[in-house]
Amino acid sequence: MNSKGVVSEMINEAGQIPEEAVNNAKAHEQYDVLKKSLNAVHRPTTVRVGCYTYAIEWVDGTWTAGTNRYGECDYLTQIIRVNGQLSNTRIAETFLHELMHAVSDWYGRADAETIDREDLCLMVGHCLPMIWIDNPEVFAWWCELIGADMETVN
Ligand SMILES: [Zn+2]
Repeated sequence: MNSKGVVSEMINEAGQIPEEAVNNAKAHEQYDVLKKSLNAVHRPTTVRVGCYTYAIEWVDGTWTAGTNRYGECDYLTQIIRVNGQLSNTRIAETFLHELMHAVSDWYGRADAETIDREDLCLMVGHCLPMIWIDNPEVFAWWCELIGADMETVN
């Protein structure tokens, strides 16, 4: 049984895997398969960036069909959208990419076409700890995604 089959059967309308289904998978020794698809478990729905709270919307592939986009960050409505049907690693990367757009807006650089190296390092150095400290559950989920894919490499 492949991971897509197992996981797609478990995902509910909210795009999450219910706790009961996770426990059931553990009981039936399918947890290794499930771990590879943890992107659907504990998926965050909000993230705080400085004084702003962004809603996170998990969209499917039809949202980005025909484009090379996997997500977007809308500063005005404070919504981050990510295609939730990507691999764990691509979801982790896309989510962080859109989150950094939100950070750049909070940092006052959303409209900057270019940013010099020292400014970039200042922004990342100051803001990455801030968003990590303010969103422990989000980054626990994010680390799970990366970790699950690291296990498949070994
Ligand atoms: Zn971008």
